[in-house]
Amino acid sequence: MDQDAVPPKANGENLSHDSPAPGDQSSSKPHPEYDISVFKDWCKECGICAAFCPQKCITLDENGAPALDRSKKCTGCRWCELHCPDFAICVRERQALQPEEGKED
Ligand code: SF4
Ligand code: SF4
Repeated sequence: MDQDAVPPKANGENLSHDSPAPGDQSSSKPHPEYDISVFKDWCKECGICAAFCPQKCITLDENGAPALDRSKKCTGCRWCELHCPDFAICVRERQALQPEEGKED
């Protein structure tokens, strides 16, 4: 056996650190942006979405309606969408604009 070959240690020493841990937001890679929509006709202004958002993206206005002025912090976890009792909030990843195919400069 090659004496120089060092097996990975159980404590993580010598292991590759190329991939961030799940939920790690410290990476310098930009994370995707998300569009959050509230269907006002369905929303009963209960505040559940704001209470569940782990990033505090959703605040409530003076009437208790969700306000989305901090949506840039959204990680797309969809916790708000899953807990809304009225299906009144929707989170979708923003699609980057693709250059038109076959178009020459
Ligand atoms: S959880 Fe749904 S119904 Fe309640 S405030 Fe949020 S969007 Fe409106
Ligand atoms: S998807 Fe997650 S982070 Fe984004 S607004 Fe909803 S609960 Fe907050």
